[in-house]
Amino acid sequence: MKNNILFSNSLEFSPLEEELREYAKLNNVPIIQDEGLAMLEMVIRLYKPKNILEIGTAIGYSAIRMAKVCNSNVYTIERNELMENEAIKNVSKANLSNNIHLIFKDALEAYDLVSNVEFDMIFIDAAKAQYMKFFNLYTPLLKKGGVVVCDNMAFHGLVELINDEKAYMEQSRSVRGLIRKMAAFHDELLKNDDYYTSLFEVGDGIAISVKK
Ligand code: SAH
Ligand code: MG
Repeated sequence: MKNNILFSNSLEFSPLEEELREYAKLNNVPIIQDEGLAMLEMVIRLYKPKNILEIGTAIGYSAIRMAKVCNSNVYTIERNELMENEAIKNVSKANLSNNIHLIFKDALEAYDLVSNVEFDMIFIDAAKAQYMKFFNLYTPLLKKGGVVVCDNMAFHGLVELINDEKAYMEQSRSVRGLIRKMAAFHDELLKNDDYYTSLFEVGDGIAISVKK
């Protein structure tokens, strides 16, 4: 795991969080990298969102960390049953069942389950091919001034291969499709006049967009 943070005193982990980090490593669960986490938590510390929507719970690691920064409500969506069961267990162990609302559903079909909530922040961290769909589906629920944070914008360093034809063609067809989709999402985000967007080379690439 890449970790370029020069200085941070905000990445202390509880024993449960250490366990989740270990579980993620052993089971190849792609939890957010430390650098990205430090940035995500800094956004939360500054903006103090009351309601956060997360797309892609996995084992609940980022949901737990986000909920703890300033006691936000986190609504988090996961479609994989194994992940969901881990998340249920972990959120309960963390004593955050009151703050974290776990939604077991494909995020493309879960709109009605959260459409009664007004969100201050949306964290997109699920299937890379679907970022545009997630963004278009859920940002109508985002307040003016609200923040969208997207993780894995670099798609494990693969997005930049779009400018390197040889390396690009060496990828499998499905990876090439994902690279193209992620690159198209970059363009859309930066072209979207309803948001101020910056893309940061932090962790696996973090985009921060603020709704005008
Ligand atoms: N946010 C987590 C990591 C999420 S990994 C953390 O940093 O701790 C991405 C997760 O998104 C996986 O568990 C995957 O099952 C889930 N996912 C992918 N596409 C999804 C979709 N369309 N709807 C719901 N969950 C999805
Ligand atoms: Mg991620």
